[in-house]
Amino acid sequence: MFRKKHSHASGFPTRMELLHDPALNKGSAFTDKERDALGLRGLLPPRVHTIADQVDRVLENFRKQPTDLAKYIFLIGLQSRNEALFFQVILNNLDEMMPIVYTPTVGQACVEYGHIFRKPRGLFITAEDRGRIEDIIWNWPEEDVRIIVVTDGERILGLGDQGANGMGIPVGKLTLYTACAGVHPVHTLPITLDVGTDREELLNDPLYIGMPHKRLRGPAYDEFIEEFVVAVKKVYPKAIIQFEDFANRNAFRLLAKYRERVCSFNDDIQGTASVALAGLFSSLRVTGLPLSQQKILFFGAGEAGIGIGELIVSAMVAEGMDRQAAMGRIWYVDSTGLVCKTRTDLAAHKKPFAHDHPFIGSLAEAVDKLEPTCLIGVSGTPQTFTKPLVEAMARINTRPVIFALSNPTSKAECTAEQCYAWTEGRALFASGSPFDPVVLNGKRHVPGQGNNAYIFPGVGLGAIVCEATQITDEMFSRAAHALAEQVTESDLETGCLYPPLKQIRKVSAHIAVAVAEVAYDEGLALKPRPDDLLQAMKDAMYNPAYVSYLD
Ligand code: NAD
Repeated sequence: MFRKKHSHASGFPTRMELLHDPALNKGSAFTDKERDALGLRGLLPPRVHTIADQVDRVLENFRKQPTDLAKYIFLIGLQSRNEALFFQVILNNLDEMMPIVYTPTVGQACVEYGHIFRKPRGLFITAEDRGRIEDIIWNWPEEDVRIIVVTDGERILGLGDQGANGMGIPVGKLTLYTACAGVHPVHTLPITLDVGTDREELLNDPLYIGMPHKRLRGPAYDEFIEEFVVAVKKVYPKAIIQFEDFANRNAFRLLAKYRERVCSFNDDIQGTASVALAGLFSSLRVTGLPLSQQKILFFGAGEAGIGIGELIVSAMVAEGMDRQAAMGRIWYVDSTGLVCKTRTDLAAHKKPFAHDHPFIGSLAEAVDKLEPTCLIGVSGTPQTFTKPLVEAMARINTRPVIFALSNPTSKAECTAEQCYAWTEGRALFASGSPFDPVVLNGKRHVPGQGNNAYIFPGVGLGAIVCEATQITDEMFSRAAHALAEQVTESDLETGCLYPPLKQIRKVSAHIAVAVAEVAYDEGLALKPRPDDLLQAMKDAMYNPAYVSYLD
């Protein structure tokens, strides 16, 4: 497929485009016939290689890189040269590549974005572009964008305000849409809304890539976002907008404002919720306790925590529980202490979960007094699940469920090794960033990574294929069920609450089906329903093979 307007009069790409456009380039894999027919003879080294040879060459060089950041730079370089080869490498080696193209390495890449910058990717729209945002979106050279990941860079992973450097996140997430769910790269568009940054180091850094001024706030910010959303709907009416890594002061508001107006979602709130709920469903298969008997204590009451809590409540209600009773099973400790009715400082998103309970000042005391079955860390504060606290969870529960979800690895509330060691291997543990398996007293424990990449690519694929007009909480709930159903008994025997990443395309196809089913059932799909939804999802997936230019 030729996706760009080509400079050659015939509309066929020029030689230089064939060799330098990453969507067209095959490098040493151009066949002899193609080299002769397309005028490439002599412009490439003579020996023709297969894509499998090229993957081997890439891996050899990738593994020689001295640091994870160097590996990231190497892979992004490949993505800018040869897209099919890039995705083939990622897809064949997901376990090895995912921590580089996404968390944790992408976090470090964002912090250093201005210093490692080589070639632009995605669309940058600044506060200064107000009044002409639509024109800027028209500059994007693709005609059929279906999924946009957009950030304003204010809450990048657990690393706070990174301004325009946050572009690493939309780029990385869209890479995962293609790798994990086969969304064709031509349909993806990463966008950074550069509304400034409040981080002094960036403002003072001459190599910072964004506009060096403080963040736009208040009504001017809201008007800017409104202009952006309206412009997207005009230029790309079929595009899903995924809001990504906005600070929670804006994230909840924007989600509430746009979720029914345009096909949009917030992955930090809803995607995280779905992946965590799936982990919880898997843990129940081990503990044998019903969802309704869980008491869940969150450490951190931001986008991730509140999103997960709300989706668990929906799942409890779907199982027949009264909503008030379900809310009563969900508790939060934030940076001040227990979220409870006596507090006067609570942000709007926390208030529904403020219980009629005396204030408790510390997490340790909250664990002792509330006796939760499940502890979920989404505070962005490292090493806060201390030994006594984790031991207390193990005293209260035969199989304590402990999720340390803060990213990147350096922010995790505890490590996998600590959690297994402090619970004599009884914990059902999941983390936000990957941890290696742990051997304790001869038993191998495999920590599951509650990686949003299990969920959002499949949700996006499902919504694209049925042309959903909205993305609902019910879709995320069904996606969680679909993900948990892919976890086998042998995964659970090692303590792993998620399926192996190797199966991600299969997992994404099932999630896509679950999402599309909700869309069809609720009248939210524009496309007619195919007879075989699973086959339709599989057929829609992009596979990174080279096309022949001579057919
Ligand atoms: P957020 O800024 O919206 O919320 C952070 C919350 O933590 C706030 O409620 C804040 O009050 C609380 N907090 C901060 N310091 C604290 C302290 N010392 N003690 C107790 N609470 C404290 O951020 P978020 O989007 O909710 O993300 C939180 C963390 O979760 C980040 O590290 C992020 O990387 C991680 N996360 C993981 C996943 C995943 O694993 N799949 C997904 C999303 C977010």
